[in-house]
Amino acid sequence: MSALTELYEQIALCQKCEIAARRTKVVPGEGAEDADIIFIGEAPGWHEDQQGRPFVGPAGQYLDKLLASINLSRRQVYIANVIKCRPPDNRDPLPTEIQNCRQWLDEQIEIIKPRMIVTLGRYSMARYFPGKTISKIHGTAQKRDGILYYAMYHPAAALHQQSLKQAIEVDMQKIPEILSEASGIQEDRSSAGDEQQLNMFEV
Ligand code: URA
Repeated sequence: MSALTELYEQIALCQKCEIAARRTKVVPGEGAEDADIIFIGEAPGWHEDQQGRPFVGPAGQYLDKLLASINLSRRQVYIANVIKCRPPDNRDPLPTEIQNCRQWLDEQIEIIKPRMIVTLGRYSMARYFPGKTISKIHGTAQKRDGILYYAMYHPAAALHQQSLKQAIEVDMQKIPEILSEASGIQEDRSSAGDEQQLNMFEV
């Protein structure tokens, strides 16, 4: 059994939050165990809860298109959420739920050892870029301990707002270049304001 499959079995038994009792299916995440990139969303919605798979509703279909725009399929990357159970009525995840689920996401990252973690929306951004504002940092990457962290808008938000749609599409296009240039990033160049440098910085 693969390390991820073993982890999924443990996640399926998790009852730390009250919302676990209400789920149809737990949504641990899916994709390649050796993926270079992990995309992290917020929480399962209705479709995800029904199928036990992340990003399979309208936002997921849009994410698939965004991935295709850089010649990637969801099987080549890994897709997960900050929390693994659907919050009732699609409410925002609670801080305790995020905290309870943190261990699972950490273990997924530990197994996959990605080169890049892409946050989709505010909740996953808050986890990896605490105190930052999405409108300011989307499309910028930060390298820490050998991993590139990159913030993007949430596909569901982008679906409903034209300006965010443009931004998410541009930000997705930058990913291949960021990954290929990543080994050359050594210093904090965030304040250089030079597009060529892709707004990257290392801390
Ligand atoms: N939105 C998310 O954040 N995650 C999903 O899996 C689906 C929609």
